Amino acid sequence: MTAIISLEDVQRSYGRPPVLACAGVTLTVDRGELVAIVGPSGSGKSTLLNIIGTLDRPTAGVARIDGQVVGDLDDRELSALRAHRIGFVFQQFHLAEGVSAVDNVADGLLYTGVPRAERRRRAVEALGRVGLGHRLRHRPDQLSGGERQRVAIARAVVGDPPLLLADEPTGNLDTASGAAVVDLLHELNQQGTTVVVITHDVELAATLPRRIAIRDGRVVADSVPA
Ligand code: ADP
Repeated sequence: MTAIISLEDVQRSYGRPPVLACAGVTLTVDRGELVAIVGPSGSGKSTLLNIIGTLDRPTAGVARIDGQVVGDLDDRELSALRAHRIGFVFQQFHLAEGVSAVDNVADGLLYTGVPRAERRRRAVEALGRVGLGHRLRHRPDQLSGGERQRVAIARAVVGDPPLLLADEPTGNLDTASGAAVVDLLHELNQQGTTVVVITHDVELAATLPRRIAIRDGRVVADSVPA
Protein backbone atom coordinates (compact mmCIF):
# COMPACT_ATOMS: atom_id res chain seq x y z
CA MET A 1 0.00 0.00 0.00
CA THR A 2 1.52 3.30 -1.07
CA ALA A 3 1.65 6.27 1.29
CA ILE A 4 -0.95 8.94 0.62
CA ILE A 5 1.61 11.70 1.21
CA SER A 6 5.28 11.22 0.47
CA LEU A 7 7.63 14.20 0.50
CA GLU A 8 11.31 13.71 -0.31
CA ASP A 9 13.55 16.65 0.53
CA VAL A 10 10.85 19.06 -0.65
CA GLN A 11 11.84 22.70 -0.97
CA ARG A 12 9.87 25.78 -1.90
CA SER A 13 11.65 29.08 -2.27
CA TYR A 14 10.20 32.51 -2.86
CA GLY A 15 11.66 35.67 -4.32
CA ARG A 16 15.15 37.00 -4.84
CA PRO A 17 17.28 36.50 -2.88
CA PRO A 18 15.36 33.27 -2.34
CA VAL A 19 13.62 32.65 0.98
CA LEU A 20 13.24 28.93 1.69
CA ALA A 21 9.72 28.71 3.10
CA CYS A 22 10.04 24.94 2.87
CA ALA A 23 13.65 23.99 3.42
CA GLY A 24 13.93 20.28 2.69
CA VAL A 25 11.00 18.38 4.18
CA THR A 26 10.97 14.60 4.10
CA LEU A 27 7.92 12.88 5.53
CA THR A 28 5.45 10.10 4.84
CA VAL A 29 1.80 9.91 5.85
CA ASP A 30 0.16 6.51 5.41
CA ARG A 31 -3.46 5.97 4.49
CA GLY A 32 -5.70 6.05 7.53
CA GLU A 33 -3.53 8.35 9.62
CA LEU A 34 -4.70 11.39 11.59
CA VAL A 35 -1.85 13.86 11.77
CA ALA A 36 -1.18 17.39 12.96
CA ILE A 37 1.39 19.54 11.22
CA VAL A 38 2.13 22.03 13.94
CA GLY A 39 4.32 25.11 14.04
CA PRO A 40 4.28 28.80 14.92
CA SER A 41 3.37 31.57 12.50
CA GLY A 42 5.94 31.81 9.71
CA SER A 43 7.23 28.26 10.17
CA GLY A 44 6.12 27.20 6.69
CA LYS A 45 2.75 25.55 7.38
CA SER A 46 0.84 27.27 4.55
CA THR A 47 3.64 26.53 2.12
CA LEU A 48 3.55 22.85 3.09
CA LEU A 49 -0.25 22.80 2.93
CA ASN A 50 -0.16 24.23 -0.60
CA ILE A 51 2.28 21.56 -1.71
CA ILE A 52 0.42 18.67 -0.04
CA GLY A 53 -2.84 20.08 -1.43
CA THR A 54 -1.26 20.26 -4.93
CA LEU A 55 -1.98 24.00 -5.11
CA ASP A 56 1.74 24.57 -5.58
CA ARG A 57 4.74 22.60 -6.82
CA PRO A 58 8.05 22.19 -5.01
CA THR A 59 11.02 24.12 -6.39
CA ALA A 60 13.20 21.10 -5.49
CA GLY A 61 12.57 17.60 -4.20
CA VAL A 62 9.70 15.23 -4.93
CA ALA A 63 6.13 15.45 -3.62
CA ARG A 64 3.93 12.39 -4.21
CA ILE A 65 0.27 12.72 -3.36
CA ASP A 66 -1.90 9.62 -3.66
CA GLY A 67 0.91 8.04 -5.67
CA GLN A 68 1.21 10.87 -8.20
CA VAL A 69 4.34 13.00 -8.52
CA VAL A 70 3.02 16.57 -8.27
CA GLY A 71 5.87 18.05 -10.32
CA ASP A 72 5.03 15.75 -13.25
CA LEU A 73 1.41 16.90 -13.58
CA ASP A 74 0.14 19.90 -15.55
CA ASP A 75 -2.42 22.32 -14.11
CA ARG A 76 -5.40 20.37 -15.45
CA GLU A 77 -4.12 17.12 -14.02
CA LEU A 78 -3.45 18.79 -10.67
CA SER A 79 -7.00 20.23 -10.60
CA ALA A 80 -8.40 16.78 -11.30
CA LEU A 81 -6.27 15.23 -8.56
CA ARG A 82 -7.53 17.90 -6.13
CA ALA A 83 -11.18 17.61 -7.15
CA HIS A 84 -11.30 13.84 -6.75
CA ARG A 85 -8.74 13.00 -4.09
CA ILE A 86 -8.46 15.90 -1.63
CA GLY A 87 -10.96 17.73 0.58
CA PHE A 88 -10.09 21.14 2.03
CA VAL A 89 -11.32 22.79 5.22
CA PHE A 90 -10.25 26.34 6.09
CA GLN A 91 -10.30 28.51 9.19
CA GLN A 92 -12.64 30.99 7.44
CA PHE A 93 -15.13 28.27 6.32
CA HIS A 94 -15.35 29.80 2.78
CA LEU A 95 -19.05 29.08 2.38
CA ALA A 96 -21.17 30.91 -0.20
CA GLU A 97 -23.40 33.41 1.64
CA GLY A 98 -27.12 33.38 0.81
CA VAL A 99 -26.86 29.75 -0.31
CA SER A 100 -28.40 26.88 1.67
CA ALA A 101 -26.23 24.35 3.48
CA VAL A 102 -27.25 21.62 1.04
CA ASP A 103 -26.30 23.73 -1.99
CA ASN A 104 -23.01 24.77 -0.40
CA VAL A 105 -22.16 21.11 0.13
CA ALA A 106 -23.40 20.03 -3.33
CA ASP A 107 -20.99 22.58 -4.82
CA GLY A 108 -18.17 20.41 -3.47
CA LEU A 109 -19.01 18.05 -6.36
CA LEU A 110 -19.20 20.72 -9.09
CA TYR A 111 -15.99 19.69 -10.80
CA THR A 112 -16.46 15.95 -10.60
CA GLY A 113 -19.04 15.46 -13.35
CA VAL A 114 -21.75 14.24 -10.97
CA PRO A 115 -25.24 15.33 -12.17
CA ARG A 116 -27.08 17.98 -10.13
CA ALA A 117 -29.77 15.78 -8.56
CA GLU A 118 -27.12 13.29 -7.48
CA ARG A 119 -24.95 16.12 -6.10
CA ARG A 120 -27.85 17.23 -3.90
CA ARG A 121 -28.62 13.68 -2.78
CA ARG A 122 -25.01 13.19 -1.72
CA ALA A 123 -24.97 16.62 -0.05
CA VAL A 124 -27.93 15.66 2.12
CA GLU A 125 -26.12 12.46 3.07
CA ALA A 126 -22.88 14.33 3.88
CA LEU A 127 -24.75 16.82 6.06
CA GLY A 128 -26.21 13.85 7.90
CA ARG A 129 -22.68 12.52 8.45
CA VAL A 130 -21.63 15.76 10.16
CA GLY A 131 -24.77 15.89 12.30
CA LEU A 132 -26.53 18.65 10.35
CA GLY A 133 -29.37 16.65 8.80
CA HIS A 134 -31.76 19.13 10.46
CA ARG A 135 -30.11 22.22 8.94
CA LEU A 136 -30.29 21.46 5.22
CA ARG A 137 -32.07 24.66 4.16
CA HIS A 138 -30.26 26.99 6.54
CA ARG A 139 -27.98 29.62 5.05
CA PRO A 140 -24.57 30.35 6.59
CA ASP A 141 -25.90 33.50 8.35
CA GLN A 142 -28.51 31.32 10.06
CA LEU A 143 -25.90 28.93 11.45
CA SER A 144 -23.44 29.13 14.35
CA GLY A 145 -19.70 29.17 13.67
CA GLY A 146 -19.41 25.52 14.66
CA GLU A 147 -22.28 24.59 12.35
CA ARG A 148 -20.74 26.55 9.49
CA GLN A 149 -17.50 24.68 9.92
CA ARG A 150 -19.41 21.39 9.90
CA VAL A 151 -21.07 22.43 6.62
CA ALA A 152 -17.60 23.19 5.25
CA ILE A 153 -16.42 19.75 6.39
CA ALA A 154 -19.44 18.11 4.73
CA ARG A 155 -18.55 19.95 1.52
CA ALA A 156 -14.95 18.72 1.82
CA VAL A 157 -15.95 15.07 2.25
CA VAL A 158 -19.04 14.89 0.01
CA GLY A 159 -16.95 13.35 -2.78
CA ASP A 160 -15.38 10.85 -0.34
CA PRO A 161 -11.80 12.00 -0.92
CA PRO A 162 -9.17 9.75 0.63
CA LEU A 163 -7.35 12.81 2.02
CA LEU A 164 -8.79 15.67 4.07
CA LEU A 165 -6.64 18.75 4.73
CA ALA A 166 -7.83 21.06 7.49
CA ASP A 167 -6.10 24.43 7.84
CA GLU A 168 -6.62 25.84 11.37
CA PRO A 169 -10.12 24.30 11.41
CA THR A 170 -10.89 25.53 14.93
CA GLY A 171 -9.22 28.94 14.61
CA ASN A 172 -12.50 30.86 14.46
CA LEU A 173 -14.44 28.77 16.95
CA ASP A 174 -15.09 28.88 20.67
CA THR A 175 -13.66 26.01 22.73
CA ALA A 176 -16.80 23.84 22.72
CA SER A 177 -17.49 24.17 18.98
CA GLY A 178 -13.80 23.64 18.27
CA ALA A 179 -13.80 20.44 20.31
CA ALA A 180 -16.89 19.22 18.40
CA VAL A 181 -15.11 19.87 15.10
CA VAL A 182 -12.05 17.94 16.30
CA ASP A 183 -14.33 15.05 17.37
CA LEU A 184 -15.84 15.08 13.89
CA LEU A 185 -12.39 14.89 12.30
CA HIS A 186 -11.65 11.87 14.50
CA GLU A 187 -14.91 10.24 13.36
CA LEU A 188 -14.19 10.83 9.68
CA ASN A 189 -10.73 9.38 10.24
CA GLN A 190 -12.23 6.29 11.90
CA GLN A 191 -14.42 5.89 8.80
CA GLY A 192 -11.25 5.69 6.71
CA THR A 193 -10.33 9.22 5.62
CA THR A 194 -6.71 10.26 6.10
CA VAL A 195 -6.83 13.61 7.92
CA VAL A 196 -4.05 16.20 8.13
CA VAL A 197 -4.64 19.19 10.39
CA ILE A 198 -2.41 22.23 9.95
CA THR A 199 -2.28 24.34 13.08
CA HIS A 200 -0.25 26.60 15.34
CA ASP A 201 -2.36 25.37 18.26
CA VAL A 202 -0.23 23.04 20.39
CA GLU A 203 -3.23 22.01 22.52
CA LEU A 204 -5.22 20.98 19.45
CA ALA A 205 -2.22 19.10 18.06
CA ALA A 206 -1.83 17.24 21.38
CA THR A 207 -5.25 15.62 20.87
CA LEU A 208 -4.13 13.96 17.61
CA PRO A 209 -2.24 10.64 17.44
CA ARG A 210 0.73 11.98 15.44
CA ARG A 211 2.30 15.41 15.48
CA ILE A 212 4.82 16.65 12.94
CA ALA A 213 6.41 19.82 14.26
CA ILE A 214 7.88 22.28 11.78
CA ARG A 215 10.07 25.30 12.35
CA ASP A 216 11.81 27.46 9.75
CA GLY A 217 10.58 25.24 6.94
CA ARG A 218 11.95 22.01 8.42
CA VAL A 219 10.58 19.07 10.39
CA VAL A 220 11.97 19.36 13.92
CA ALA A 221 9.98 16.56 15.57
CA ASP A 222 7.70 13.75 14.47
CA SER A 223 5.87 11.78 17.14
CA VAL A 224 5.16 8.25 15.98
CA PRO A 225 1.78 6.97 17.14
CA ALA A 226 1.84 4.29 19.85
P1 ADP B 1 3.01 29.76 8.19
O1 ADP B 1 1.85 29.26 7.39
O2 ADP B 1 3.53 28.74 9.16
O3 ADP B 1 2.72 31.05 8.88
P2 ADP B 1 4.24 30.33 5.63
O4 ADP B 1 4.34 29.06 4.87
O5 ADP B 1 3.14 31.26 5.29
O6 ADP B 1 4.23 30.01 7.20
O7 ADP B 1 5.61 31.14 5.47
C1 ADP B 1 6.89 30.58 5.70
C2 ADP B 1 7.93 31.60 5.33
O8 ADP B 1 7.94 31.84 3.93
C3 ADP B 1 7.75 32.95 5.98
O9 ADP B 1 9.02 33.46 6.30
C4 ADP B 1 7.08 33.76 4.92
O10 ADP B 1 7.36 35.12 5.06
C5 ADP B 1 7.69 33.20 3.64
N1 ADP B 1 6.74 33.28 2.51
C6 ADP B 1 5.58 32.61 2.40
N2 ADP B 1 4.95 32.89 1.25
C7 ADP B 1 5.74 33.78 0.59
C8 ADP B 1 5.66 34.48 -0.67
N3 ADP B 1 4.63 34.30 -1.51
N4 ADP B 1 6.66 35.32 -0.97
C9 ADP B 1 7.72 35.50 -0.15
N5 ADP B 1 7.85 34.88 1.03
C10 ADP B 1 6.89 34.04 1.42
